[in-house]
Amino acid sequence: MSNSYDVIVIGAGPAGYVAAIRAAQLGLKTICIEKWRNAEGEGVNGGTCLNVGCIPSKSLLDSSYKYYEAKNQLGVHGISVGDVSIDLTAMVDRKNKIINQLTDGIAGLFKSNGVVSLFGNAKLLSGRQIECVTHDGKTQILTADNIIIATGSKPIDIPVARVNGATIVDSSGALEITETPNRLGVIGAGVIGLELGSVWNRIGSKVVLIEAMDDFLSIIDQQIAKETRKIFTKQGMDIRLGSRVTGTKVKGKEVIVTYKDSAGKETKEVFDKLIVCVGRTPYTEGLLSPDSGVNLDERGRIFVNEQCETTASGVWAVGDVVRGPMLAHKGSEEGVMVAERIAGQKTQINYDIIPNVIYTHPEVAAVGKTEEQLKQAGESYNVGVFPFAASGRAMAANDTDGMVKIIADAKTDRILGCHIVGPSAADLVQQIAIAMEFGSNAEDIAMTVFSHPTLSETVHEAALAVNGHAIHMPNRKKRG
Ligand code: FAD
Ligand code: NAD
Repeated sequence: MSNSYDVIVIGAGPAGYVAAIRAAQLGLKTICIEKWRNAEGEGVNGGTCLNVGCIPSKSLLDSSYKYYEAKNQLGVHGISVGDVSIDLTAMVDRKNKIINQLTDGIAGLFKSNGVVSLFGNAKLLSGRQIECVTHDGKTQILTADNIIIATGSKPIDIPVARVNGATIVDSSGALEITETPNRLGVIGAGVIGLELGSVWNRIGSKVVLIEAMDDFLSIIDQQIAKETRKIFTKQGMDIRLGSRVTGTKVKGKEVIVTYKDSAGKETKEVFDKLIVCVGRTPYTEGLLSPDSGVNLDERGRIFVNEQCETTASGVWAVGDVVRGPMLAHKGSEEGVMVAERIAGQKTQINYDIIPNVIYTHPEVAAVGKTEEQLKQAGESYNVGVFPFAASGRAMAANDTDGMVKIIADAKTDRILGCHIVGPSAADLVQQIAIAMEFGSNAEDIAMTVFSHPTLSETVHEAALAVNGHAIHMPNRKKRG
C-alpha cells in the first residue's frame, strides 16, 4: 500500500465517508481511516450515524410504532388483530441487520469509487503526516496534500449518573435493551431522550424524562414546542422540566435518581433502567500531536472557518467535531464542500438552511428562523399556521395532531422559517427548505398547485395563511 495520498480522511462517519467518496469521484487519490470495531471486533465504517445513531434509533422507532399502532390504533379503522406481542430480541436483531447492510454498503461504495479503506487509529502529526496504528497492531506513517478530520462526537458523561452498561446506559447502550423496563428514567428531554423515550413508551414502559431546563425544547419555535409537549404528555410521557439530577444510586437491579426542581425541592424516583442523554461532545482523544498546528475552540471543537479550514494549512475538519448542529446531513454537506474545494471548486454551504428533525410520532421538524429569534432581532414578519386537524388526508390516516407554521418577512414576503409538528413533518419541512434555497416567498408556495388529498396541502394552507388567504380555516389576519 502506498503511503502518499492526495487526501487522507480520518473517520468514516457520514461526514468522513461522504468526503472520501466525493474526493475520489473528483480524481483525488484518497484513503479513509476508521477505528470503529463492531461487536465481533471487526473494523466497520459508518461512524455514530450508522452504528449507534440515526439508523439504529430510527429502526427501533419504526418497529415500536408498528407495534403501538397494531395494539392501539387499528380499532378505529375497524381492524381487530387479537393479542399483539413484540419480540424485543427480534426487534434488536433486525436493527443490527440493517446496520450491517449499510456499513457493508459503505465498504462497497469505497471500492467502486476507488477509496482506500484502512482500519486503525489515526493521529495527526506535523507537516500533514498521519501516524496510524492499524487494527492488526502495525504502525504506518502516511502523508497527504490535504487531510480531512471527521472524528465526530461522543455522549457527554455526567458524574452524577455514571454509565454502568446495566442499569444506567447512554444512547448506545439504550439501543441494545431487550427487556422492557417497567420504569424507564431518561435524563435530558432533548432529541435523543424524546426519540428513545418514545420507543419505550410505545412498548409499555412508564417513561419519566427529567430535564434541567425550565423550557421544553428551548431551541425550537416555542409555539411548536408547547404543542409538542401537549402531544407527548397525552401519549403518556411524563416530562419534568426544571429538574436537575443531583445523584444516582444503583441498588441491585434498580437505580434511584435524585433531582432538584427550580425551587430547590428534592425528589427521588426509582427506575429499572436509566438512559443518560444530556448532549454530545466533540471527539478528539489521541488525535492531535502537540505540533499538529490544529487549534481547538473554547468548547473543545476543532476550530474551523466557514469553509472548514483548520488553523493548520491543508488540514480541514467537518461534522460533529466542528461548530454547528450535530447532524449527519450537516457533516455530509461539509464533507462534499471540502472535497470540492480541495479539487479547486468554490463550493459553499448555506448554514442558514439546515433542516432539523426529531423522529418521534408525530415528527417535529424545522428549518430557518424561529419566531423567538426574529423577535429578538427586531425583524417584522407574518405567520401562517395550519392545523393537521383540518386536513382531510390527516383525518383519513387518523393522524391529526400538530400544525404547520410558516414565517415570512413582512415587507418582502420571503420565507424565513418553517416549523412543524405533525405526521411526515420531516418530509414536509424539506419542501420549504428547497423553497428557501431558491429564495421563495410565501406567495410562491401559495401559488403552487398541490395534489389533493395530501399532507402537503397543510404546507400550502399555512403559506396561504401567511397572507390571510387560507381556504380551509378562518384566517386570523385578512390581508386582502
Ligand atoms: P461520527 O458519525 O461520530 O463518525 C466519526 C468517526 O470517526 C467514528 O466512526 C470514529 O470511530 C472515527 N474516529 C474518531 N477518532 C478517530 C481516529 N483518531 N482515527 C480513526 N477514526 C477515528 N443526526 C441526524 O442528522 N439525524 C438523526 O436522526 C440522528 N439520530 C441520532 C441518534 C442518536 C442515538 C445519536 C447518538 C445521534 C444521532 N444523530 C442524528 C447525530 C449523528 O449521528 C451525528 O451528527 C453524525 O454521526 C456525525 O457524523 P460525523 O461523521 O461527524 O461523526
Ligand atoms: P440535546 O442537547 O438534544 O438534549 C440534552 C438535554 O439534556 C438538554 O435539553 C439539556 O438541557 C438536558 N440536560 C443536560 N444536563 C442535564 C442534567 N444534568 N439533568 C437534566 N437534564 C440535563 O442532546 P442529546 O439528546 O443527547 O443529543 C445529542 C445530539 O445528537 C443532539 O444535539 C443532536 O445534534 C444529535 N441527534 C440528532 C437527532 C436527530 O437529528 N433526530 C437524534 C439524536 C441525536
